[in-house]
Amino acid sequence: MADGRGKLRSSKDTVTENKQNDIKSKHKEDESICGSCMKTLGDRDNGVYCEICELWFHCRCQGVPEAMYNVLSQYNAELHWFCKSCNTGAGKLLMSLSKVNTKLEKLEDEMVRMKAELHAELAHSVKLIKDDLI
Ligand SMILES: [Zn+2]
Ligand SMILES: [Zn+2]
Repeated sequence: MADGRGKLRSSKDTVTENKQNDIKSKHKEDESICGSCMKTLGDRDNGVYCEICELWFHCRCQGVPEAMYNVLSQYNAELHWFCKSCNTGAGKLLMSLSKVNTKLEKLEDEMVRMKAELHAELAHSVKLIKDDLI
């Protein structure tokens, strides 16, 4: 029993580690190809990396202004950039996410209400138990 659990845990740890490494090693390879024009991204080319399709793009191919590129490259780890085609998809995703959010908000309201009811009930029960004890 304990053996199986240990195995599962160690293999899971390795997977997460690999994933993290993948994200961190977001360096531009020597031979990165632009996802728009399929030409190589040279050292002099400003390139942006799409986190959804995991492709590099020339800034000029995606219409990324130089100011934005500078910010992106400066805060590489914190900022996310999506290419035009993924952005459309992400937009749709965000739309459905906001729908889910509305549902969640309703659920939260419900939970708050239930919690209050539960509290009242609990207080009542505690009072009864206390009365019993005395
Ligand atoms: Zn290009
Ligand atoms: Zn993309």
